[in-house]
Amino acid sequence: MQASSSPIVRELVLVGGGHSHVIALRRFAMRPVPGLRLTLVCTDTDTPYSGMLPGYIAGHYRHDEVHIDLRRLAQWAGARFLRDEVVGLDRRARRVLCRERPPLPYDLVSINTGSTPQVGQVPGADAFAVPVKPIARFNERWLALLARVRHHPGPTTVAVVGAGAGGVEMALAMQHRLRAELAEQGRPPEELSMHLVSATPHILPSHNPGVRQRFERVLAQRGVRLHVACMAEAVEPGRLRLSTGGVLPADEVVWVTQAGGGAWLRETGLALDEQGFVRVNGFLQSVSDPCVFAAGDCAAMEGESLEKAGVFAVRQGRPLADNLRAQLFGAPLQAYRPQKRWLALISTGNRHAVASRGAWGMQGDWVWRWKDGIDRRFMARFNDLPAMTRPPRADRALPLAPEEQRQALSALAMRCGGCGAKVGTDVLARALADLRPLAREDVLIGLQSPDDAAVLRVPPGQALVQSVDFFRAFVDDPWLFGRIAANHALGDLFAMGAAPQSATAIATVPPGLEAQVEATLRQMMAGAIEVLNAAGCALVGGHSGEGQELALGFAVNGLLDEHLQGVLRKSGLRPGDALVLTKALGTGTLLVGHAQGRAKGRWVDAALAQMAQSSQAAATCLRAHGARACTDVTGFGLLGHLVEMTRASGVDAELDLAALPVLDGAQAMLGAGLSSSLQADNLRLRRALHDQARWASHPRHGLLFDPQTAGGLLAGVPPEQADACVSALREAGYPHAAVIGRVLPAGEALEPIRLRDSGVPA
Ligand SMILES: Cc1cc2nc3c(=O)[nH]c(=O)nc-3n(C[C@H](O)[C@H](O)[C@H](O)COP(=O)(O)OP(=O)(O)OC[C@H]3O[C@@H](n4cnc5c(N)ncnc54)[C@H](O)[C@@H]3O)c2cc1C
Repeated sequence: MQASSSPIVRELVLVGGGHSHVIALRRFAMRPVPGLRLTLVCTDTDTPYSGMLPGYIAGHYRHDEVHIDLRRLAQWAGARFLRDEVVGLDRRARRVLCRERPPLPYDLVSINTGSTPQVGQVPGADAFAVPVKPIARFNERWLALLARVRHHPGPTTVAVVGAGAGGVEMALAMQHRLRAELAEQGRPPEELSMHLVSATPHILPSHNPGVRQRFERVLAQRGVRLHVACMAEAVEPGRLRLSTGGVLPADEVVWVTQAGGGAWLRETGLALDEQGFVRVNGFLQSVSDPCVFAAGDCAAMEGESLEKAGVFAVRQGRPLADNLRAQLFGAPLQAYRPQKRWLALISTGNRHAVASRGAWGMQGDWVWRWKDGIDRRFMARFNDLPAMTRPPRADRALPLAPEEQRQALSALAMRCGGCGAKVGTDVLARALADLRPLAREDVLIGLQSPDDAAVLRVPPGQALVQSVDFFRAFVDDPWLFGRIAANHALGDLFAMGAAPQSATAIATVPPGLEAQVEATLRQMMAGAIEVLNAAGCALVGGHSGEGQELALGFAVNGLLDEHLQGVLRKSGLRPGDALVLTKALGTGTLLVGHAQGRAKGRWVDAALAQMAQSSQAAATCLRAHGARACTDVTGFGLLGHLVEMTRASGVDAELDLAALPVLDGAQAMLGAGLSSSLQADNLRLRRALHDQARWASHPRHGLLFDPQTAGGLLAGVPPEQADACVSALREAGYPHAAVIGRVLPAGEALEPIRLRDSGVPA
């Protein structure tokens, strides 16, 4: 969570984590603008570096070597990272429209979303071909193809459609890797047939004839069948129809043709070129809207016909950042002049490459090593991020209109305590205006007709269950934080076996311009209300105030039978019960790793996704399988909550360390000494462990004490139901659900918890 001493006064939203934006992020990190909130929205956390992609496919690089971790980069650069797909721009209201979260306001927006091969124009291509972009989806298909070739002996045919640099490189890289797989299994290379389909009479139409001939020779030597002056006319299951009348049998058709801009750009009303790319002037600014900038493949520069190549996207990063900054300050923009000739280093899949520049060309293994060195140095700028030992020198203050200046000064001034610290009613009303909390019959007075307090009816035969939770934001994404905070609060009700009924919220938002306070509050409450509504829980009131940090909590009410039929108490454990845990451990250490820029973005993604997952279905599943006791695992960690259960039930318990489900990266973070500030308190409970000195150095020992946010349910289930219960939980969407131990009769020893290690990791 980025803390800022200046109130937020301007919003710059970067759409897409392409090559230009990663460079722009670095530039803003080196000279931050006080009061500017920089937000990166991208569908992927790991964005691929195009230059190394063929090398990854060929098997020369690992995933992390060719991807930039946008979450880590943004964290380092002091920017927010929101993982979402942008689906539109509301330019009149200046809002970025996202697939999942409410719209994001902007003062300036910059688009760097790349391009996608056009599959829509050829019948069947949409359904049966694999476009090379988005890479994440292509990668899934590629890994599936690799597995298929590995496990199913017999011939495989791959056709690559498009013979520009990307298509040629892909065909050769795929062939190299698949042949290596075959060789490893002692199978002949002839089991693989590779075809390359080119609409033009020559491959590599934008390169010189010498370079084309070099590649024609390589393709011939490697047995890649070339189909030139030939259009792909239709793709059908298992085959590709060509304009020459031929039909190619093909297990996989890979589409690397002429690209287009994202379909969503057409709805923005921005001036686009024929292929759907954003028309920009020399400042990389939309020709139709000065608040919109674009760079990389998705931009079409007026008066230039630039190849869609990563080299331009990279070069545009710096002028883009400088012009965005200048636009914020109202300073003159600087024109970007693309180079007329550029160096392309095109690989042949087998650690060999061809250099092409204008009319010049060279080839050799040394060209590949040269390219490899350039690419690795480029990636190191984003993946080996220097520690910011001193805060970077900040830019001057942004120019503000008089009313904005008044609001900014007021936000900076010492704010009143008491009621003076409340968020203004207008701001609150606007923030909540579009949000629709659930209406319930037993809510007699709630937000639909607000009053001093909510009035609720407890239906006959039911009792009210209450719980409260509150915490500071640990992620720079108010919508996601709102979801997690609501989920965390509801966890107590689910653990008791209660049905959620109503909730009141308490929130603090850092002071700032009214528009920013409103936007943050709207995002956070929208996330929370989605979760509450889905759980059948009506938000009936709340209180919001200004505070140093964003924070949110809920008092939640649930209903259950007044005779406590079906209630799941901590005290219900019986000897012999299996201990079932529904979610993986490790959120505490991963959040610390994230705050320190040490955790991989995808580990943090998985942890956040788990925290945002409701435990409602898990509770239903546990009850259906006869659970007798239950609690939700939160701040005290697994051991703390288990000890509460064993004490209340008068039993002992045994945990199998190997069976504990663990989030990816959690053990690595704990091993690196990264633990939550609560961990030290939780560790005091190690006295509850039998023979604890023996286990202290076990790699999974620390997980017992790791505080969990919106953690899983821990339940005692009759042993004969345990396996069925875990299968049902997994089917219900809890992939980490596991039996982690068993309940023992109370023993003589003072320590109630025994550990073992069955040696079979979960
Ligand atoms: C196989 C292959 C090999 C290539 N090799 C080279 C090479 O060696 N050298 C070279 O110069 N060029 C190469 N290219 C071309 C190069 O890939 C592109 O020109 C380059 O990636 C464009 O960069 P970009 O910054 O515009 O966008 P991209 O790198 O495509 O990045 C776009 C980002 O935006 C995200 N995004 C997309 N849509 C949305 C949305 N709606 N909302 C939010 N996020 C979104 C994507 O997830 C992605 O992270 C190759 C292309 C291919 C297909």
